[in-house]
Amino acid sequence: MVKAPKNIAVIGATGSIGTQTLDIINNHPELYHASVIAAGSRVDDLIRLALIHRPALAVIADQSKYTTLHEALSPLGIATACGDQALCEAVCRPDVDMVVTATVGYSGLAPTIAAIKADKDIALANKETLVVAGQYITDLLSHSKSKVYPVDSEHSAIYQCLQGENHSDVSRLIITASGGPFRTWSAEQIAKATASDALRHPNWSMGAKITIDSASMMNKAFEIIEAKWLFGFDADKIVAVVHPQSIVHSMVEFNDGAIKAQLGLPDMKLPIAYALGEGQRLAGAEKQLSIADFATLTFERPDPSRFPCLSLAHEALTSGGNSACIINAANEIAVASFLNGRIGFGDIYRVIERTLSTIDHIAAPDYEDYVSTNREARKFASSIC
Ligand code: NAD
Ligand code: MG
Repeated sequence: MVKAPKNIAVIGATGSIGTQTLDIINNHPELYHASVIAAGSRVDDLIRLALIHRPALAVIADQSKYTTLHEALSPLGIATACGDQALCEAVCRPDVDMVVTATVGYSGLAPTIAAIKADKDIALANKETLVVAGQYITDLLSHSKSKVYPVDSEHSAIYQCLQGENHSDVSRLIITASGGPFRTWSAEQIAKATASDALRHPNWSMGAKITIDSASMMNKAFEIIEAKWLFGFDADKIVAVVHPQSIVHSMVEFNDGAIKAQLGLPDMKLPIAYALGEGQRLAGAEKQLSIADFATLTFERPDPSRFPCLSLAHEALTSGGNSACIINAANEIAVASFLNGRIGFGDIYRVIERTLSTIDHIAAPDYEDYVSTNREARKFASSIC
């Protein structure tokens, strides 16, 4: 670890990952200080968090909320800013040692790029960054001093299993999936699922977007793509297996037949703390897994006929270029439209598939190509929703 307390910028501070990160920071003032906190539009929550954590700077992406933020925090000597550009500048401040990217969707891309260009270490929760622009981010990282520590529980598990191992000995990464609320539902039932059905995740409490992605298994497709870019293995070495108890967070299989796994309760605090600690463990877990209480751990093959979004991972990685960026943009629009009641659950996959076959493929996109692909794909997906 560089120094203590380490200054952390929490981008997406008001969300599920953001608030859990701030809880860990608050419980360990000897190790961490939240020097920057940022959110999308929930200004009251951001102000409340600023009063507790006393950051040097609070940023709100939604410019219409700026006056409220400024009037509440400037008497306390907390600097304030607004807008997407301010978010990118905030992560580059000289006093920031590590950036936690906990915003949702495409909004994570620009601040992550800014952080990498400024050589900042990153605790990466925003998986969409690597889904949208995995090759571009990987190239940027190869020219930067910044290191990426996964926050996603599956990727944290794989990261832990790979410690002390040679990558050439790995035969497969096995990513576990809970199967979501529709694991045992028929295709007909799934097609007619309501938003409240889809928001009822059996094991994890998370933001709305990732909860819907878990129900469609788009989240698992994204995690396969995320694993490819984080760990540098070919797509055919990365598989998903359904594990309804969410105790085994993922596994690595080696070419001598050994399989290593990381187990724990479904609680994001562990992977968040492991990322903040750059792979050093933080003692004092609130709850320990009592393995005898989980005498039955089961595993099943996923069913792509009921969860077609899962197949999009290997499709995107095979075609490469801007394919995953198109899928991500169409999915964001489809999920928002589903939550607004404009399309059915079964339509989410159809919107993604139609958008993917409509938007031009770009084999080697640069940053501007990702921006325009995201814009065009969202426009088309919105038009058919
Ligand atoms: P959430 O919806 O609970 O929170 C999202 C946060 O991002 C909020 O603070 C919101 O204000 C902020 N935000 C939204 N749009 C923004 C914008 N345009 N600019 C700046 N900030 C913006 O989401 P979450 O569940 O915490 O998920 C965050 C990320 O972490 C996602 O990429 C998700 O896939 C990933 N993740 C979450 C979990 C989990 O348990 N929640 C687990 C693994 C990975
Ligand atoms: Mg995950």
